[in-house]
Amino acid sequence: MDLHTDIAVVGGGLGGLTAAATASRGGATTLVLEAHLPGGRARTTERDGFVWNLSSHALYCGGPGGAALASLGIVPIGAAPPLARYLGSSEGALHRLPTRPGPLLRTRLLGARSKARLAGVLGRLPRMSPSALEGTSTRAWLEGLDLRTDADAVVRALLRLGTYRADVDRLGADAALAQMQLASSGGVLYLDGGWAQLTAALSDGFHVRTSAPVGSIVPAAGRFEIACGEDRVIARHVVVAAGSPAATRALLPDPPDWSDLDGTVTAACLDLGVRRPPQPGYVLGIDTPLYATTQGLPARQAPNRQVVVAVLRCSARSAAEDRPVLDAHRRLAGVADEDVLAERFLTSMTVAWTAPRATLGGLRGRRRSQRCGLGSPISKSVSVGTRATPRCRWGAELFTKPPTPSRAEGRPVPLGSKASSPVLRASTWPR
Ligand SMILES: Cc1cc2nc3c(=O)[nH]c(=O)nc-3n(C[C@H](O)[C@H](O)[C@H](O)COP(=O)(O)OP(=O)(O)OC[C@H]3O[C@@H](n4cnc5c(N)ncnc54)[C@H](O)[C@@H]3O)c2cc1C
Repeated sequence: MDLHTDIAVVGGGLGGLTAAATASRGGATTLVLEAHLPGGRARTTERDGFVWNLSSHALYCGGPGGAALASLGIVPIGAAPPLARYLGSSEGALHRLPTRPGPLLRTRLLGARSKARLAGVLGRLPRMSPSALEGTSTRAWLEGLDLRTDADAVVRALLRLGTYRADVDRLGADAALAQMQLASSGGVLYLDGGWAQLTAALSDGFHVRTSAPVGSIVPAAGRFEIACGEDRVIARHVVVAAGSPAATRALLPDPPDWSDLDGTVTAACLDLGVRRPPQPGYVLGIDTPLYATTQGLPARQAPNRQVVVAVLRCSARSAAEDRPVLDAHRRLAGVADEDVLAERFLTSMTVAWTAPRATLGGLRGRRRSQRCGLGSPISKSVSVGTRATPRCRWGAELFTKPPTPSRAEGRPVPLGSKASSPVLRASTWPR
């Protein structure tokens, strides 16, 4: 069957849904084609009453993603994680995490001289200019801060918290600094009911076709023909928001090289439904790339005073290596074996497919839009300024073709059903 629409969006993750919401609110008939269910890596799953994101998901309110939501009139509902209660683990012992002056003075993670020096660096951080670090690697920047080993380890851990990135050799220091500034200035939110809150809020006013994998996109006679199972979708414009470079390349008539895109960020994730709020509940590894957070206590993600806890290891290895360390970190965060009511172990999740690299000019050196056989890109990405790679993560490219633009033929055909939230709406959780 031939189906007509003004704008077809390939991919129903946050990038695609944001692009679709923007197009649809601008008056275009819009159709999202999603291979699986809406949400992509921002999907939320309900199990035994617990509402899980894919591991820990914090919305960076002050970033481009927050701005995109605001422009659509979407106000995220949730609560900030209690940073003051965060602990750092080093050699198996727990200490106050020096995120603010109070804990910095009292923590036993650092010696007196390290505290003074770190206080100076953290105090200067908001005023440092990311663009002054263009072309500098994060490693070189950190070395230039001239911190003692203990304070250097704390800064690296905070950086991991903001980027999920364990290695600092390639990441541009401008991106690292910008991310740390974003976290401290705009703050982050854990969302009530999980990130399905965003999926539901975005999926209004257009159709989402689920279980609809797109096979190819071909420009033809002033429009695009999109092969989707038995159907052919004919669109004036196409937004490709397929998530990964590989999925995107597979759709393009002239696949771009992109061989220099590297630096994939992965995480091994243990999602837990827990009987009661654990103590301390929030533990960032200082000498290990581990992190445990009680996400569904500030945000409503569990019934009856139960909570959702996410434990993760930045840089996934094998399941056999990672599972025991995740369990050990879970116990360190206060989740005893008998308190675990439900669990899900995701051996390796891709958090980001690439990162702004120092050698390619950092943030400014990120890839520009390319033609890729689809005509000129007319809009850049819809992006969420989050863990270190805003443009390549929650990103969508809108392509239009240059030759003789013409309106799509025929009337748009209503397709599929409107996306519905796979889990409870945020408003169903009492605060
Ligand atoms: C463990 C983990 C923790 C994270 N933590 C955070 C966090 O704290 N804060 C934050 O901001 N971000 C976080 N992220 C990243 C965030 O989830 C992603 O950046 C964001 O969801 C990506 O959205 P996207 O739309 O670009 O891509 P995706 O979510 O990957 O969506 C792409 C969609 O395209 C679909 N698709 C692909 N190919 C086709 C095709 N041929 N036809 C039809 N559909 C297709 C896929 O099925 C998918 O649904 C985290 C990610 C992970 C994995």
